[in-house]
Amino acid sequence: MTIQSREDRLKRIKENPEIGVLIIGAGINGIGTFRDLALQGIDVILVDRGDYCSGASAASSHMVHGGIRYLENGEFRLVREAVQERNRLIENTPHLVKPLPTTFPIFKWLSGLLNAPLKFLGVLERPSERGAVVIKIGMVVYDFFTRKQQTVPKHIFKNRKESLRQFPALNPEVLFTGTYYDGAMPSPERIAIEVLGDALEAGDHAAALNYVSLVSAETDRVLLLDELSGESFEVNPKVLVNAAGPWIDLVNTRIGKTTDFISGTKGSHLILDNPELRQAIGENELFFENKDGRIVLIFPLLGKVMIGTSDLRIEDPDDAVITEEEVDYFFEMIGRVFPNISLDNSQIVYTFSGVRPLQHTEGGATGQISRNHVVKASQPDELLDIPVFSLVGGKWTSFRAFSEHAADHILNYLGKERKISTGKLSIGGSKDYPHGTAEKEAYLQTLQESFQVESDMVKNLFISYGTHAKTILKEQGPLISDNLKTIPGISTGEIKHIILNEDVLHLDDLILRRTMLAKLGLITSESLQEISGICADVRGWSRRETEDEVIRFIEIMKRNHKMEFNKFIGDNRR
Ligand SMILES: Cc1cc2nc3c(=O)[nH]c(=O)nc-3n(C[C@H](O)[C@H](O)[C@H](O)COP(=O)(O)OP(=O)(O)OC[C@H]3O[C@@H](n4cnc5c(N)ncnc54)[C@H](O)[C@@H]3O)c2cc1C
Repeated sequence: MTIQSREDRLKRIKENPEIGVLIIGAGINGIGTFRDLALQGIDVILVDRGDYCSGASAASSHMVHGGIRYLENGEFRLVREAVQERNRLIENTPHLVKPLPTTFPIFKWLSGLLNAPLKFLGVLERPSERGAVVIKIGMVVYDFFTRKQQTVPKHIFKNRKESLRQFPALNPEVLFTGTYYDGAMPSPERIAIEVLGDALEAGDHAAALNYVSLVSAETDRVLLLDELSGESFEVNPKVLVNAAGPWIDLVNTRIGKTTDFISGTKGSHLILDNPELRQAIGENELFFENKDGRIVLIFPLLGKVMIGTSDLRIEDPDDAVITEEEVDYFFEMIGRVFPNISLDNSQIVYTFSGVRPLQHTEGGATGQISRNHVVKASQPDELLDIPVFSLVGGKWTSFRAFSEHAADHILNYLGKERKISTGKLSIGGSKDYPHGTAEKEAYLQTLQESFQVESDMVKNLFISYGTHAKTILKEQGPLISDNLKTIPGISTGEIKHIILNEDVLHLDDLILRRTMLAKLGLITSESLQEISGICADVRGWSRRETEDEVIRFIEIMKRNHKMEFNKFIGDNRR
């Protein structure tokens, strides 16, 4: 994405503070709504107190899913919409979202049959572990929702013998395995950046700023703070959108509105470097329950394995970090399914936690809280002369539908017509994407011949950026063939392209979100030095500024991700 410099964007906004729509929060729902409005020609500004996609949207289980579990709650409309959005994301973002075979190992026959009726009667405290019959019914109904589009294959049930043939390391007490399909997004943050890029390409009427927070609002004025310079400035929007996810009620408090829209639940994940476990799951995600019906997943994240997730009520979203109890719980649960694979803390390369911005509910099991989304409108009043639309709830998977729904509310308020639907729009590097094997090979060969670079390099770029690989090759020229000295297979030109074009303001933006370097455990003291050096060159950081960025990164890794670095001498293992 090519955008004006941050200074130019800030200057332009300060000189023209009268704007159509101001969106607070650049998680996937804020970004999605920003794109939708930008494509309708509305002048819109998106701000986030931190980096793009750094809140709940950076903490997901990386599943693009219809929510097979919600069938049991009778939430058929939610599942139908999510399945449709799952299919759209697979079709509209083929380089970043792929079909994911998801396997339930099943240890019981009839258990869980009463979950749905008890839920219906409102007397279910905690669901019990689902057995073969309940899971089979769920998979049949799930297939029914997707039968027309056939974006993913139908489910398969296997008996013990066949299951152990496919997964030899599985607990031999398994009765069946049931495999159905959802979608995998190994890098949600990159999808968010590509959606953002599409919005910015719509024209100068749409501008985004990371590291700008909402401070307060009064009458027709909203006070914003540039977190980099410490300077504040005012804008006068006609409409305010509160897309602050788990922080929605806190943002509303800042603008003089008392709301109780959100009940946040914390979820944590850890990423393991455990080749045995990675081999045991193949390209499948394993999805299973403990005895009280809580879900655990083992997800193939490129060469690593991601484990998640918990679902614990939490008051302050800023407190969300993984605890030792959660790590022990995950290890214990994996031991139940793969009893002979040894696990220990030294295999952890990364951990992350976040808060689901779920609609407010009192009590009950957290897994039973609806993942539905709703737009809550607050009308102008004597204190704030601007309507506020709060985007409450939702899932990553259905961000497009939620954004369209929110944009419709806003267009209606502004008296504007929808010009374009996002339903069939390709996202970012999916535009002009070659689909069949032969088309793909021809496309890659043309790129390789035009730019005279190694075929592996072209292929890697294509996997990560789709057809946007061509722009990167054009911009970086021969530099694209230089690998980082400390991380073979990662191109120096690719890193430079990201820093130049994707609003990398801090070192952690690059390492934690624009790339998967930290998630895949590739950051050592040496690679940190090399990467911070490249950042310093491109951004013109002084030595002092570069050191500050490295310290900031190490502190974030320690505080938010529980990863210790022995500054410049160790590696990133715990
Ligand atoms: C553990 C976990 C697992 C999940 N797994 C999945 C999954 O596998 N699949 C799926 O579909 N969904 C999943 N979800 C749900 C999904 O991730 C969320 O519903 C979605 O990301 C919410 O996006 P959002 O934009 O509403 O909120 P966020 O991404 O949190 O964005 C809100 C933004 O507001 C900003 N903000 C806050 N205060 C201010 C302020 N004062 N000024 C400016 N900005 C501010 C924050 O910095 C933040 O970036 C999961 C969620 C969690 C937490």
